Order: sequence, then C-alpha cells, then structure tokens
Amino acid sequence: MDINSKPIIKKAIDKISDFSKEIDRDVKIMHVCGSHEHTICNYGIRDVLPKNITVVPGPGCPVCVTTQKEIDEAIYLAEEGYTIATLGDMYRVPGSDKSLMQLQSEGADIRVVSGIPEAVKIAKTTDKKVVFVAIGFETTAPTTAAELISLKSRYDSLKNSDSDNNLDFYIHNCHRQTPPVMDFLLGGGSKLNLDGFICPGHVSTITGLEPYYAPCEKYHAPMVIAGFEPTDVLMSLVMLLKQIKDGVAKVENEYIRGVREQGNVVAQKMINTVFKDKDVAWRGFPVIKNGGFDLKDEFKQYDIKNIIDMPEIKEKINKGCICSEILRGEKLPTDCKLFGKACDPINPVGSCMVSDEGTCRIFYKYKKLM
Ligand code: SF4
Repeated sequence: MDINSKPIIKKAIDKISDFSKEIDRDVKIMHVCGSHEHTICNYGIRDVLPKNITVVPGPGCPVCVTTQKEIDEAIYLAEEGYTIATLGDMYRVPGSDKSLMQLQSEGADIRVVSGIPEAVKIAKTTDKKVVFVAIGFETTAPTTAAELISLKSRYDSLKNSDSDNNLDFYIHNCHRQTPPVMDFLLGGGSKLNLDGFICPGHVSTITGLEPYYAPCEKYHAPMVIAGFEPTDVLMSLVMLLKQIKDGVAKVENEYIRGVREQGNVVAQKMINTVFKDKDVAWRGFPVIKNGGFDLKDEFKQYDIKNIIDMPEIKEKINKGCICSEILRGEKLPTDCKLFGKACDPINPVGSCMVSDEGTCRIFYKYKKLM
C-alpha cells in the first residue's frame, strides 16, 4: 500500500513536515516495540520522514533483551537433566556455545511450548523436573503470574492432605519491565540524545500511562503511546513533534482504542501478587534499576534459582554481533558486517535475528539491505 494514498495519512505526513521545519534541528525519537518496527518497515514510514526526524528502534523485543547469560543458564539446566519448556524463539537463540535447539539434537529434553500452561501440563504428565523459561515484558508477566497463583492455590489446599502435591515445576524467570529501561536510556544510557519516545502499545495496555509520568517529567521527554497501524505511528509522531515544537513534555495516548489511563488493573494485580521489582541487566545494558521482576517470597518455591545453586556464568557476546548497540538504538542492523551474510534467520548469530520482534530479523524480512 502506498501510505500517501489515504488523505488522513497524507495530512499526518504534511503535519510532520511542517513541525520539522519549525523545530529546525535534528530530532531523535525511539520506539521500544518490535511491532512498531514492523509497521515502520512494512509501510516505509522512515522514507516519508523529513531528513531531520529520525525514528530509531530500541530494546523492544523480549527475546532479544534476554541476556546470553540467561540463555546459557537454561542450557546448563537442560544439561543437568531438567526438562526445559520454552517458546519457539528462545529455542533458537544462540548461547555462548550452542542453542537449546542444538542441545535438543544432542538428546536433551527441550520442549517448545505455546506458553506456561502447556509447560505445566508437561510437568503434570512426567516425573521429570520441568523448567519454563519465562520471558517477556509486562504483557506476558501476568500470564506467568496467573499460572503460579493457580499452582500455589492448589498446593496450599492440598498440603495438609495425603495427595501428591509435589509438582516439579519451576520457572527460569527472565521477565523485564519496560519503563525503567526507557528511564535509563533518557538518563544517558544511550549515546543518542533522545528527544522522546513512542511508547509501546501492548505493554501500555497492561501498565496504563502512570509508569511513564516520572521519566517524562525527570528528563522533559515527550512520550506518546501508539497503536500499530501506519496511521497510529504517524499520528504519534505528529503528537511528539508538536510537543517538541511547543517545548512541552507530557505523556499522551494515541492508542485510545487499546490503552486505558489506568491500564489493565486485573493484570497489574496478578503481577503485584506474584512479583516485586528487581534490578537486572538487559542484553546490551548494565543492571537496570527495577528493570525486571523477582518472585515474592510466597512464590519462591517456583524459582529454579531458589532450588539449585546455579554456577556463575559470565555474559558473553558472539563475535562480530552488534546486538547490544542495536538494542541501545546506537546502530542499525545494516551497520553489522554479518547482517544478511554470516547471520540470517536460518543461521542467526545474535538474538536480534531470531525473534519476529527482533530488529535484525525485521530489517531482513523487509529487505532493508541497504
Ligand atoms: Fe547480531 Fe546478526 Fe544482528 Fe549482526 S545481524 S547484530 S550478528 S543478530
């Protein structure tokens, strides 16, 4: 589709052009959502932006931001005889020496599942200890929380009876929280001088607007939550550029059909029942304050790291891979010497080429091989 063909889109592009002239300096906007990058690449949105307006992809792919250390830990668990239940994308992410997929071909018990309920089902039908690799942002954390609440309630109701209640099920907790990494990036965590954020639509359906207020105010950074149609992305840019032009910084919601001011309070309650804030490293980032979730004490029985002593595994980066810089928005996949050559979706070298939400994978899909 020619995105200029719809009058509303043409109007948005014209507004962006007008505002960019009034601002009259380079502006860098980051988004933190793989789905936004799909829209931007699919509809050629960067091609219609004025030269002084740049939209860079940031750490918006949950598989990509999971650290190599966490992948290596999952591999260690599999080598120790645990059954690893994982989403398909995680299965293919290269660890330091191999991926879970390669380990499976060597005989390890790795199961690709659609989500935590399927992993629990496996645990119920086997004598083996099952570990679910729990990844994702605020969008998937409620699913993990709901399953653990259900398991614990069953455990608590059976613990004084003779029934067998010892389900050997655990999670390898790799969940992350998005707004803290945005705070980190605005506070000097990226070499880019970011002017504002297109906030993630899916995450915001859960969180609502509240978590963005503090970084918006602290760094005087405009933030607009956007949906996933090309019109949404363009409208969010219009709203951001208007704020920049007017010298104001506020949190606005372009995606009103999907995101409520208060978010999904039921999902938030589930998260708050099971998890508490945790400082964690992201791939490409140092430890981010409150960048992750820790299981609360009442749910620690499901934390595999509470069950075994995990050996100290050092974070490594695969040679030549610049996923770290890409996740910080400092480089694009096309800056990587391996992109489309030694690294492609069939033989990924780094996490950003594996997941459908990964920037390298998206650039490859839309043939951004310039
Ligand atoms: Fe890493 Fe491959 Fe992306 Fe290069 S193209 S940054 S090697 S994932």
